[in-house]
Amino acid sequence: MNPSAADSLHELMILLVKELDGVSCRCGAVKESGNTFCKRCYFKLPQPLRRNLYQKLKSGYVEAYQAAVYFLDDLEKYLDKKKEERLHGNQPGTPS
Ligand SMILES: [Zn+2]
Repeated sequence: MNPSAADSLHELMILLVKELDGVSCRCGAVKESGNTFCKRCYFKLPQPLRRNLYQKLKSGYVEAYQAAVYFLDDLEKYLDKKKEERLHGNQPGTPS
């Protein structure tokens, strides 16, 4: 790992700790301090991703957080696409 990657990982950890301590979820909803996400986001995650969020910060939490965020973002994009398709009456496409 080069020094700048280590720096940004460290910065990311600081951000994640702040987010974990705070009471607002990345989606804007209120969450409990100490939880990564609000209940709505949390329950959208598949079991293995939820479990991974209980890792220690330095042993997998950052990766678990990133995986969960990617999952939620993809899910939102996918649902938006589905909504668009319903509105415009297009044939459902295959998710890429
Ligand atoms: Zn949320």
